[in-house]
Amino acid sequence: MPMIHVVGAGMAGLACAVEIVRSGRAVTLHESAGQAGGRCRSFHDETLDRVIDNGNHLILGANPAVFSYLDTVDGRSGLVGQVRAEFPFVDVTSGERWTLRPNAGRLPWWIFSPARRVPGTRWTDYLAGLKLARAAETATIADCVGNSGPLVKRLWEPLTVAVLNASTEEGAARLLWPVLRLTFGQGEAACRAYVARRGLGPDLVEPGVKYIRDHGGKVCFGRRLRGLNKAGRRIEALDFGAESAALAPGDSVVLAMPAANLVQILTEIPAPLETRAIVNAHFRLDHAVQLPGNNRLLGIIGGTAQWLFARDDIASVTVSAADKLAEIDAAEIAERLWRDVAIALGKPPSAPPPVRIVKEKRATFAQIPAALAKRAQPRTDYENLFLAGDWTATGLPATIEGAVLSGQRAATLALANARR
Ligand SMILES: Cc1cc2nc3c(=O)[nH]c(=O)nc-3n(C[C@H](O)[C@H](O)[C@H](O)COP(=O)(O)OP(=O)(O)OC[C@H]3O[C@@H](n4cnc5c(N)ncnc54)[C@H](O)[C@@H]3O)c2cc1C
Repeated sequence: MPMIHVVGAGMAGLACAVEIVRSGRAVTLHESAGQAGGRCRSFHDETLDRVIDNGNHLILGANPAVFSYLDTVDGRSGLVGQVRAEFPFVDVTSGERWTLRPNAGRLPWWIFSPARRVPGTRWTDYLAGLKLARAAETATIADCVGNSGPLVKRLWEPLTVAVLNASTEEGAARLLWPVLRLTFGQGEAACRAYVARRGLGPDLVEPGVKYIRDHGGKVCFGRRLRGLNKAGRRIEALDFGAESAALAPGDSVVLAMPAANLVQILTEIPAPLETRAIVNAHFRLDHAVQLPGNNRLLGIIGGTAQWLFARDDIASVTVSAADKLAEIDAAEIAERLWRDVAIALGKPPSAPPPVRIVKEKRATFAQIPAALAKRAQPRTDYENLFLAGDWTATGLPATIEGAVLSGQRAATLALANARR
């Protein structure tokens, strides 16, 4: 039976290998690290004595590829989601609090309701968002919605940094529009926020690894791909340094690694190499964290913190588009973020509780207009070589949904090649 080699066991490579074994084909998944998950992983932190995620990851109702992956690996119960989409916010400068509540159905009448929309805005302010639908490839979010006013500060900016890991001033309008169309454009159920119940590792990653192994696939850790042996338009062997894997006719390879790693192996592929950072702070409180309306997340405006997530006694803060913050000393970051969290939780000022700061300096590719044309197609000039990863040309931002979708698409191509 033809073998499909998948290189990189992040969400793209895992989703790809899951699809291959689901179709009854042979797969070997090669991963350079000692564990799967890539940028979406959990680990035990000694200081907090808790299993934490490298960063808070939000999944939306409008993420069908993620749900289909979870259904295949029998992992849907690992996600916990909102019963109704609602996004509470606090402005830590003014103390004002509000909740954004999209309505059911495709007609977004929530913008007409002062109780559901952002305070201080008029329904006509939201019409600027429609400009994103027809934005030029060179346009940023700010080119479409402007760069000042309460709606920019309280909706467009937090939405853009959360979705694109970029500010409205630099984020690509062409990447935000598909997300708006698939969420707010579909109604409240598509906007519901889901998070991993226990953590990304146990709830998203490990069920995939188990499914692949249970269905006869191989998962090899500590295996770094160093090069490809090519002959004409075919890949003949994978070079792992001390070992190599020869490819028989009908065998294929899917490279599901970040752009920066890929271009070391395939120098001819254009790829978006500029990246942006995300900083997460995980604070351990001496009680369970309670957020408004029993929500698992809270938007923070007017401070350094952007989103606060609650899981048991851990209050986790995310700051996206955080290249400058990532250069600062961890203790100083903890002080700054705890100031915002204390206000958000209604606590008096105090020194930060036990904390772990995680800086992901290359969290995503820079999702700016100049990067769009550099996203690679899944097919390459080699007949048995395919690409996956959140940075490839999915039409979606660099998210778990984009990564999983890219893996599933590459699996379809590799399976078709195996059948030829
Ligand atoms: C802090 C943070 C917060 C985020 N928040 C969200 C969120 O809220 N919602 C959301 O949807 N997305 C979020 N994302 C984005 C999401 O994590 C990524 O889009 C997704 O995990 C990318 O998956 P991937 O498989 O494409 O790449 P990766 O996860 O990078 O996987 C690539 C794998 O390839 C391996 N590899 C690299 N080179 C080699 C080699 N030569 N040989 C073998 N293996 C190799 C790597 O070790 C890695 O395991 C966030 C990311 C970060 C970092």
